[in-house]
Amino acid sequence: MICKNQPPGTVRQMAIKLDIKTTDSETISLLQRYWATDEAGGFVEKVSALLPFREIKNSSGLASYIRTVCNAFDENQTCVKCGSNLTITSRSEAKKYPHHPVHPCVPCKAEMDEARRIAEEQAEAELRRRVLEHAANVEARTINYESVPDDLALIALALDQTISPRLIGGSFRYADCASLAPMYVDEFINRLWKGGVISDNPRAPGPMAYLVKGEGLSYYPNRISFSLVPDEFLGAGAEAFQELVVRTYKDKKGLLGLWFDYAVADCMAYLYDQCSDFNLVVPEHKIEEIKSTVHTALKFYSIAEVWCMIWRVVQKTSTNSNHRFSSKEKSAGTIPAKLLLQFESARKGKTAFTKWDRPKSLPAGMLGQVFNEIYGFDEKTDSSFIIKMLSDDEPLDRSQVEANIDSRVQELMTAALSSGSGAAVMYDFSELINNGADISEAIEKLMDVYSIPARL
Ligand SMILES: [Zn+2]
Repeated sequence: MICKNQPPGTVRQMAIKLDIKTTDSETISLLQRYWATDEAGGFVEKVSALLPFREIKNSSGLASYIRTVCNAFDENQTCVKCGSNLTITSRSEAKKYPHHPVHPCVPCKAEMDEARRIAEEQAEAELRRRVLEHAANVEARTINYESVPDDLALIALALDQTISPRLIGGSFRYADCASLAPMYVDEFINRLWKGGVISDNPRAPGPMAYLVKGEGLSYYPNRISFSLVPDEFLGAGAEAFQELVVRTYKDKKGLLGLWFDYAVADCMAYLYDQCSDFNLVVPEHKIEEIKSTVHTALKFYSIAEVWCMIWRVVQKTSTNSNHRFSSKEKSAGTIPAKLLLQFESARKGKTAFTKWDRPKSLPAGMLGQVFNEIYGFDEKTDSSFIIKMLSDDEPLDRSQVEANIDSRVQELMTAALSSGSGAAVMYDFSELINNGADISEAIEKLMDVYSIPARL
């Protein structure tokens, strides 16, 4: 029986509609009195005035009883989907004025839940299908270990020692490789991934690492697992792996590039370490700028000397942050400019760096150890020695060299002479040559240092 609740003494059309499930007249009267509202939308009678009702003596007991014998619908609240009135189970849920619908009614909610469940099931099945398809593709991949570039072979060697024995016949995640390098471990792993030496392993145990993205798959970096890609002839066992890593390293340019990437990581880790000691936050939007300055500095100085440069910059930044009109954040933003100034001042012979000892909190990482085992390099090795060791000496014909550098030399010297830096440029040029740079490289580096834009 559905009725509009109109208790005696009120004339207002009630906003609460009752679906009464009893024929007991005393109970019906109770229900009408319980839910009756006045013109202002308040309840006409206090619950206490309705008590006791038979054996029920308190308000919560009465509300429970009322719920069993009657469904109440609030006309001021409608289902967001079908527009029917929403059920209310207590007086506190009733609204005095019409409300914008935000909730579905009970049957609509059940319908929506079921539709969502089916959609989730379908999405799950689609994800599983794509992952299986991807796994089949990945498992079919092979690589020729002999053709793997030296820099990747060296990273693989260091990685094997970092996570042994999981690289051969097992799987690993980014988080397992933390001791590969002082920083930017993911970038070294990605290099192996991009070079096809390792691949993601969809069948590795662990939580689902993939998600559907457009027509393909994406992944959660902290969940994805990797495995070694087998050699096309030898497979991926321990013997095959020896073929990959035991070799005569010939690609000096590639290895020098890897050394610089490693050295930049070592210096950046030192910067973060120092900033953390002084509660300074490294400005994330200027990271590439800092890395670029550090990279250039490492072509002239050892890692330990660049640490000294960074240490001075952090000290100065921290002191400045205590000034009245500054702040730690504002001050940290000046780190890239201060680093560049330090470097330029050193190049002009105004500042000398000492070789800092490696802090205990900053291990060299397995990549550093492998470079040390093979070439004897460490944080104190002079940059000039490293560059010489990893440079190919194939002198070009003089006329060819002169033709290659002619216009850049004109630009460099014109700019240097007009800014009064002629002597400094000549001095830096001789230093770069002594450090193993060839003539073109030296000129381009000087163009960088003296901020002359490159030709397009
Ligand atoms: Zn509905």
